[in-house]
Parts: sequence; structure tokens; C-alpha cells
Amino acid sequence: MSEQRYNQKAGLPFDRELMKRLSEQMTEVCREFLKNFSEPRSMCLESIANIAAARRLEIELELEDARMAKISTDKYDVSGRKLNWGSWRQFNSMTEDFNKRKEVFDLFISKAPSIAPLVEKRMNVSQSVYAEYGMSPLDSYLEFEQMTFDELRDFLTRLGDGAKESFLRAAEHYAPEVLGKKKVEYFDDYYTWGGRIFRPLSKHFEGVSPLEKVRDFLTTWGFDAVKIKVDNEDREKKSPSAFCFGIQIPNDVRVVYRKVSPFSDFGSVFHEFGHGIHGISANPNDPVWKRYIISRSVAETFSTLNESMLDSEEYLKEDLGLQKEAIADILDKRHFMDLAFLTFYAANGVMKMEFWKNHYSAEQAANRWQELTKRFFLEVPGYYWVLHHIMPNYDMYSPSYVIAAVRVNAIRKRLAEEFGEKWWRSRKAGMFVKELAATRGEFDVKAWQLDPTHFLEEVKDLSFL
Ligand SMILES: [Zn+2]
Repeated sequence: MSEQRYNQKAGLPFDRELMKRLSEQMTEVCREFLKNFSEPRSMCLESIANIAAARRLEIELELEDARMAKISTDKYDVSGRKLNWGSWRQFNSMTEDFNKRKEVFDLFISKAPSIAPLVEKRMNVSQSVYAEYGMSPLDSYLEFEQMTFDELRDFLTRLGDGAKESFLRAAEHYAPEVLGKKKVEYFDDYYTWGGRIFRPLSKHFEGVSPLEKVRDFLTTWGFDAVKIKVDNEDREKKSPSAFCFGIQIPNDVRVVYRKVSPFSDFGSVFHEFGHGIHGISANPNDPVWKRYIISRSVAETFSTLNESMLDSEEYLKEDLGLQKEAIADILDKRHFMDLAFLTFYAANGVMKMEFWKNHYSAEQAANRWQELTKRFFLEVPGYYWVLHHIMPNYDMYSPSYVIAAVRVNAIRKRLAEEFGEKWWRSRKAGMFVKELAATRGEFDVKAWQLDPTHFLEEVKDLSFL
């Protein structure tokens, strides 16, 4: 099953019928398990998730096709093919005329309600499967993260509120350079910023291979990085965003990405190799549940940690050999993207939490998300939420990146305290991270205190604010 899903995302041929048959078998196994066992708890929760996923399979495939077909326009093309949902980000990153970006944004938003019924159906299937076991997808999520509803909502709200002002001021600073206009507006989404802001940095990374650099770094740190397989071929149907897939953990872990631009490739390669070391560090003798069933925020912890090397001044200077000005530019821009991320994901996370709690329809969710964007950054038409690649595609997930980012902040602090400022050169620090990674499903989510204040201080540190 994981092989088929992998092929689908990697743009390789996959067999829909086989996927359906396998997911039916999976459902049977999971139902049997739930009938006979109540432990390990994570295995029970995962079984419910698997049953829900199997029952959603058909509707999710339908949603994917409908989104590509309906969220499209003949007016523009990207590399010779008509512009659609899949190439939208590419379009935003290469289109200098902001009026055209606005036109497409408005058009796609006006088409979004046409796929909303499918998103609603997808969510309803999850809701009803979890209800059979007396819970909701939100309950399961909170249990994995060991947080209460109020704790998680307050956490996200504090970060979103705390980042807002700095984000808006920095956005004004960057708007002329990055967006080609004076002000940031509703159609300048997080991905438009992300796709454009790092482009001037490309010149410093011409001819530098992110793959080589990440392997060097991880090997010095004590990881068997060559064990992580890499697919960087360009295929038409390959997912536009990079990913890492554990086909058989820890022995078959694959990183997949498409080359986009030199600096953003560094970001994705470092991120995905973080998933990679998390995967290969698993103990092959551990039971299946411990190796495979991991809370969402833990799944993003090691990727975020590895990617955070690009926020380390000394690493950029000594290992990547960059000059002072380039480093200052990178740090400012990465902090800015963190601020953008916090405001955007505060809205996304809070909306998804309330979605399950208040049983929203797609339209109610749109209204609520719009309110939240107004609170945390600037008001965006609410139906954008069904065009996102996380919010409509997962039961939860959105808060996981935020939890992981703040947790990594605590881990880095500890690494610096224990192994010195250049902890990333210390084998002992590498061992520490490796052992932490090996805990997999037994990672102690309570061990790292999540401190929004400290994290905010760090990301609000921009040289021009
Ligand atoms: Zn990730």
C-alpha cells in the first residue's frame, strides 16, 4: 500500500484498483485489531485512522482530480500546459505582474465552492468513522499531542497574535522587492512570498549541491546519510512539494524532490533529510507500532531541526562559505517566513480545531477562516481554505508544524547548552539527536517545554525592524 501511495506522489504509475483492494484488506485487519485489543493505545488510534483513510480513498481521489480540472484557467499557461491548481504556485513565483496574480487568485477563489462539497464529504467520512469509536479526529489528534483543546488553541493564538505586528511591518518592507508593489494584499499568500523572496539569493548557491552539503553535514554528525535514497528526477505528475517516504523503516527511506531554485532546494533538501534521519534512526527490532506510529508534531520535529541549520549564522559562514551580507539577508528572510508561517498557521490550526468541535460545514469553515485571517494577519477570502494542500486534505495536521517549530527551538537551546555553540559539529550532539530520533512512537512529547515567548523573540529579530 505504501509503495502505491509513494508511486502516486512521485508521479510514477500506480494502480488504483490495487490500492482499493489493499485498503479494504487494511480495514479488515484494523477492525479485527480494535475488536480484540485496547493496547497499545497508539495502535488503536492509528487503526481508526486507517479505517477512515480507507473509506475516504475514493472520495479523495475524486477530490484530487476535480481540483486539478476545475481550479484551472485557459488564459494562462505554465511551461506550455494550462494553469491549474497544481501549477498555481509556480505561476505566482514567476509572474512579475501582480495584477495577473490577483486575477488568477480571484478566479480560483470564485471556483473554490465547486469543490467544497467533495471536501465536506471527505470530512464527513472521517467524522462518522471516528464516531463509531466514540471520538472525533480532533480527540485523536489531541491525545497524540497530549494537549487539551484550550491548551492547543491558546498556544496557536499566542503565536499568531504575537507575530502579527512584526509580520505586517516586515511585509511592508519586503513588498516592493518581492511583490513589486507597495503593500501586501490578500492575494499575496504565504506561498507567493515563499516562492519569490529567496530568488535573489540564488546567485550565492549557483553550482552548490544541497545534496552534497546535507550529506557532508549529517555524515560528520554521525548519521549514515547515504542510506537515505534520493529521487530528484523531474516527472510531470510528480508532487510539486518535496517529501520523504518510509517504505520500510529503517531500511528503505526515500527523499523525493523536484529542483525549483537553488536556495529553496536547500530548504527542501535539508527538511526532507531531517525526515530521512528520523526514519533511518529507528531500531529495526522495535515493534511495528513504535517504528511507524508517531504523533504528527514529532514527525515534523527532526525535519524542522535539520532545516534549521539554514538559520545558523556560523553554519552558513563556515560550512557554506557565504559572505556577511548574504548571511544577513538569509537570516532576515527566513525569520520573515517564520513570521508569515505563524500568522497563517495560527489561522489554519485554530480553524481546523473548531471545525471538528463545532461541526462546521465547508461554508461555515470558510467564514471562520476568513475571520481568523483578519485577526492574525490580513483578511483573506475564506474559500481559500479548500484550495490549500493541507487544510482540506487532512483531518488535522496544520498545528503540527507550529508545535514542531517551537519544540525545535527548545531542542536547539539544549544542544547549545550541552554541546556548545557549534553543537552541529559535535558527534556527541549527533548521538543525542540520533537517540531522540530512535524513540519514534515513544518520543516524549511532554519533555520539551513549548515556550511561545522565546520562539517569538527569535523570529521577530529582523535587522530592519
Ligand atoms: Zn515535513
